[in-house]
Amino acid sequence: MKKRLMDILACPIDKHHPLDLYVFKENEEIEEGLIVCSKCLRWYPIRDEIPEMLPDELRKESEDMPFLKKWKDHFPQNIVFEGKPFRLK
Ligand SMILES: [Zn+2]
Repeated sequence: MKKRLMDILACPIDKHHPLDLYVFKENEEIEEGLIVCSKCLRWYPIRDEIPEMLPDELRKESEDMPFLKKWKDHFPQNIVFEGKPFRLK
């Protein structure tokens, strides 16, 4: 995704804007990264250049927990342990 997409992205749950962006891997576009809503502490992965802004009921723990574990040293600490909908226990 392109960074300027952040100008229009809002949290799908509470419509909060702006959201926080963390870039993990970048070429011309952001390949892997994290989008965080500071209002509800939900986090959304950016995978294969696609920001996955899904509501909780469409998210799969089996797909999102490996992403969190892979990048947890780059996640903000409060999201690792208090983030929604998935966090480290
Ligand atoms: Zn939110």
